[in-house]
Amino acid sequence: MNFDAIFDAQLQALRDEGNYRVFAELERRCGAFPAARSYIADGPDEVTVWCSNDYLGMGQHPQVIAAMKAAIDDCGAGAGGTRNISGTNHHHLLLEAEIADLHGKEAALLFTSGYVSNWAALSTLGARLPGAVILSDAMNHASMIEGIRHSRARKVIWRHNDPEDLDRRLSELPPEAPKIVAFESVYSMDGDICPMAEIVEVAEAHGAMTYLDEVHAVGLYGPRGGGISEREGLARRITLIEGTLGKAYGVVGGYISGSAALCDFVRSFASGFIFTTALPPAVAAAARVSIAHLKRSGLERARQRAAVRRLRAGLDAHGIPHLDNDSHIVPVMIKDPVKCRMLADILMRDWGIYVQPINYPTVPKGTERLRFTPSPLHGPAEIDRLVEALNALWRQCALSRAVA
Ligand SMILES: *Cc1c(COP(=O)(O)O)cnc(C)c1O
Repeated sequence: MNFDAIFDAQLQALRDEGNYRVFAELERRCGAFPAARSYIADGPDEVTVWCSNDYLGMGQHPQVIAAMKAAIDDCGAGAGGTRNISGTNHHHLLLEAEIADLHGKEAALLFTSGYVSNWAALSTLGARLPGAVILSDAMNHASMIEGIRHSRARKVIWRHNDPEDLDRRLSELPPEAPKIVAFESVYSMDGDICPMAEIVEVAEAHGAMTYLDEVHAVGLYGPRGGGISEREGLARRITLIEGTLGKAYGVVGGYISGSAALCDFVRSFASGFIFTTALPPAVAAAARVSIAHLKRSGLERARQRAAVRRLRAGLDAHGIPHLDNDSHIVPVMIKDPVKCRMLADILMRDWGIYVQPINYPTVPKGTERLRFTPSPLHGPAEIDRLVEALNALWRQCALSRAVA
C-alpha cells in the first residue's frame, strides 16, 4: 500500500483550501524581543514578532533566565524520571506551592504542558466521577474537547459565554448526576472574556463543579496575575483553575490548582500525569521566578495595556477592522484563508513584520484573521510602523475599511 500517496492527497486538499500550514523558521533573540532572526529565504534577516504568546516577554527576563541557569548547574538538564519514579525534584514542589498561592488554593499539580493538563484532568474527572456530565462552552480549546472526549462522559455543549443557556441545560440533567462546567476566562482567538460571576452563580445553583481554563489570563489579569478569577474576586468559588507556564510566564508546562483532595485525585489517577517524564527542574525553577515576579510587579501588565491601547487607536484611525474585546488580543479579521496568508506573507517579506495567519481548524472557516498580541516590549515606533504597514496593505489590496 502506498501510504505516502494517501498522505499527499490529504495534504494537497489542505493546500487547495489555503489551510496548509507553513511554520516560520525564526530564532528568538534573547534581550531583543520582539526582534527575531529570520531564516526565511524571501525576506529580511531580522523581523518583529507580532503574534507571540510570550505576552510579557518573560521568556527573556533576566531573573527567569538566571533561575533556569542556576538550576541547570545545580540539578542538571532533565528530571530523570516520572514524578513517581525518581523524577520529583524539590523545584517541582516549590513551583506547585507558588501556583497554589497564586490562586488561593490548597494545592496545585504540574503537567508537561497546558494541553496535557486539560486533557488529563478532564479525562480523569469525567471518567472517574460515576455518571458525570461535562457541560462544555461551545468555544472551548481543543485540549479540553479532547480530554472530554477521552473521558467518555456524557457531554453537553452550551452556547458560548451564555449563562442562561447553561442554566437551561443544567436544569435538564438529573439532579443527582455529578456535573462539571468547563469554560475559559479569556478566549484566545476572539479575545473575549467570559461572564464569570454569572456562570459561577448558575453552576453553584445546580451544585456543579467549575473547571476554568485561565491559560490566556494568568500573569496578565488580577493584581497578582492570578487571572480573571482573581480580578473578579471569584477564584475561591472556582473548583479547579487550569493554567499554563508557557504563555505569559514565558517558559513551558501546565497545571491545575484546587483542593488538596482534587489535586491528589488527579495525581493518583491521571494517565497523562503518571506515565510521562517530569518537567526539567530548571524549567520549574524558571517558571516559579516568573510567577513570583508577576505577583509583585504590575509594570509589565501596565505597559502591555498601553501597547494594546496604542495599536487599537491606530487601527481605528485608519478604519482597519478589528474585533472589539476587553483583552490584550487584537484580531484583525480577514475572513478568507488565501487572502489571510497572502497578507501575512507581504507583511513578512516587505516589512519584516511577522504575524502568523490564523486559519481553520484553529478558527471556524470564514473567520480567518491576523491575531496581534502587543507586549510591553513593542515600543510606540514599532506599533506605529505596524499600523502604517497595514494601512498600506489595505490601500494596495483594496480591502474594506470599518466605518467610524
Ligand atoms: C495554548 C492553550 C492551552 C494549552 O497550553 P500549552 O501550555 O500551550 O499546552 C490550553 N488552553 C487554551 C485555551 C490555550 O489557548
